[in-house]
Amino acid sequence: MKLSAIQKFTLLDYPGKVACIAFTPGCDLRCRFCHNPEFVLPERLCALAASFISEEHFFCFLAERRGLLEGVVVTGGEPTVWKDLPEFLAQIKALGFATKLDTNGNNPVALARVIDRGLVDYIAMDVKTSLADYPALVGSNVRPEHIRESIALIRASGVEYEFRTTLIREHHTEAVLEAMRELLSGATQIYFQTFRPEHTLDPAYAGFHGFSLTEMEVIAERFGSPGQPAGIRV
Ligand code: SF4
Repeated sequence: MKLSAIQKFTLLDYPGKVACIAFTPGCDLRCRFCHNPEFVLPERLCALAASFISEEHFFCFLAERRGLLEGVVVTGGEPTVWKDLPEFLAQIKALGFATKLDTNGNNPVALARVIDRGLVDYIAMDVKTSLADYPALVGSNVRPEHIRESIALIRASGVEYEFRTTLIREHHTEAVLEAMRELLSGATQIYFQTFRPEHTLDPAYAGFHGFSLTEMEVIAERFGSPGQPAGIRV
């Protein structure tokens, strides 16, 4: 697997762990609000291909960080589009690091493969909208039934997880939020983050808006379990 980038250190992206981030190129979705279109759109990826990082380079870096870092976040793009994701994660774990996988949930088969082999210690899945509204927000390549399947798979896996949503005022109406609440009913770790109207895959979304912190707190209260409402990341 080639990597589009490495972030050598983060305290924010793997809950409770000092980690680095491996970014994989390419994605099967086309979220209109995506902030990384250069790592998603094939024509933009081509322009960056010369700067991609080899696995060999990454694992040399990682070997030098043993004892300094605790975990590796594998994110995209969308890591599950890569067939060799299981081997990549296995190699990270063989070096003694915990693994966190960020995913859009559109490929439950790939997700099951890494869960069943014990290759992932934490999963963060984006739940972007209600199932009915998915295609309009992320493009026709999504299979809403796959999103539902991935949510169920993750919840039953025994792996630490979180579901997270970027809230967009013009998209996340009362009806959409209510359908999402039902979709995520019983899930314990839900986070909302605010939409930033900058550098979006669909230029029209640069004119859209996030919610205020107070509004997000009200939304978060409706999600999660009793005594453990959804969290907010700003
Ligand atoms: S799933 Fe993530 S990387 Fe892919 S288009 Fe959507 S926001 Fe961008």
